[in-house]
Amino acid sequence: MPAALQVERAPSLAEEDIVIFEDAVARFFTDHAPESRVAKWREDGVVERAMWNEAAEAGLACLSIPEEYGGMGGDYRHEVILMEQMGAKGVDGFGLSLHNSIVAPYIFHYGTEEQRRRWLPGLADGTFVGGIAMTEPGAGSDLQGIKSTAILTGNEYVINGSKTFITNGQTANLIIVVAKTDPSQGARGTSLVLVETDGAAGFERGRNLDKLGMEAADTSELFFNDVRVPAANVLGGDEGQGFFQLMGQLPQERLNIAIQGMATIERALELTIDYVKQRKAFGKAIIDFQNTQFVLAECKTEATIARVFVNDCIEKHLKGKLDAATASMAKYWVTDLENKIIDRCLQLYGGFGYMAEYPIARMYRDSRVQRIYGGTNEIMKVLIARTL
Ligand SMILES: Cc1cc2nc3c(=O)[nH]c(=O)nc-3n(C[C@H](O)[C@H](O)[C@H](O)COP(=O)(O)OP(=O)(O)OC[C@H]3O[C@@H](n4cnc5c(N)ncnc54)[C@H](O)[C@@H]3O)c2cc1C
Repeated sequence: MPAALQVERAPSLAEEDIVIFEDAVARFFTDHAPESRVAKWREDGVVERAMWNEAAEAGLACLSIPEEYGGMGGDYRHEVILMEQMGAKGVDGFGLSLHNSIVAPYIFHYGTEEQRRRWLPGLADGTFVGGIAMTEPGAGSDLQGIKSTAILTGNEYVINGSKTFITNGQTANLIIVVAKTDPSQGARGTSLVLVETDGAAGFERGRNLDKLGMEAADTSELFFNDVRVPAANVLGGDEGQGFFQLMGQLPQERLNIAIQGMATIERALELTIDYVKQRKAFGKAIIDFQNTQFVLAECKTEATIARVFVNDCIEKHLKGKLDAATASMAKYWVTDLENKIIDRCLQLYGGFGYMAEYPIARMYRDSRVQRIYGGTNEIMKVLIARTL
């Protein structure tokens, strides 16, 4: 737990084996993702493929997948540590958490036994990099409006459509594609179809999109033109389960974003408190101005409230009791707070806060998307409102 806050860790994360694991993850990122290497990834717009293999070799891929499927046999606590450490070390843009705690769980929870054995070991050993393609140029929040189709023709699905904003889009070679298997039906005609992209005829990667922040993330367009996959690639073996499967994974996906936001808030506070103690104006340290003290006191208070809430969500999720509305609250409220706190911290840096070389400037740019992806914060409120 960063020194900036005075909150106990979530009890499940304070257990000794998890603390030892946390040290190992911290060491991995210190060794494998030094600032210069992360800067290069940002320049290239993509995390190099070798990093995925290094993470897999270090046992960081598929942390929460059982060993019998090639995973590390851990649980969600291990995924939390991974996300927190990437946030704490400023390893932005590496889509390992999406691979681990979104893509792999779909296959583990909904895949047939044959599908689990076919894909999970490869996701764990670095053979596959995972992605999930829901969003299309014409449909994001309103997923029922997707136009991509996967039509059963003989013993194959033929996939057509365009996807956009797909994380790991240049690197992923195992992609869960959300498509209509029966376009005459709404949600009930939607399925998740797995595409192994290596050598897949008709599959094309489009632009690696130029973004406001998160430059190392290869967020991309994907095109499917008569891409053929075996009928056995529909997740779970039966058509029409797509929306049910998507809904089932949402609490974890939304909690992930809240956890990442929380890690960034804590890092921003730590760095800023450090900075205002050193920087001087009018003959005193910036922290000696009452305005600075009040701003940081408010930020610390709100961050503390957020941390208590996030810890509670983590504990609930570990017990299988985190409902979709509470996860939506965490996603929307923590990421709004993240943007607010980072903006206030940046102000305390003065002009240096606007300089790209300062981590607070990077956090400002990277954090903006947190309110947009994984379901916008407006959509979170729509979901919460349904429970009123
Ligand atoms: C960096 C990045 C990475 C991403 N990664 C992935 C990925 O890996 N896979 C993937 O499938 N997608 C991904 N996305 C897409 C992301 O999930 C969508 O951008 C998001 O869900 C919003 O959809 P949209 O962009 O179509 O916005 P729209 O749905 O067009 O929304 C536009 C605005 O309208 C508001 N709005 C829409 N509906 C309502 C409503 N009912 N009530 C009130 N307001 C509403 C929205 O909140 C938003 O403010 C990513 C996006 C980004 C930016």
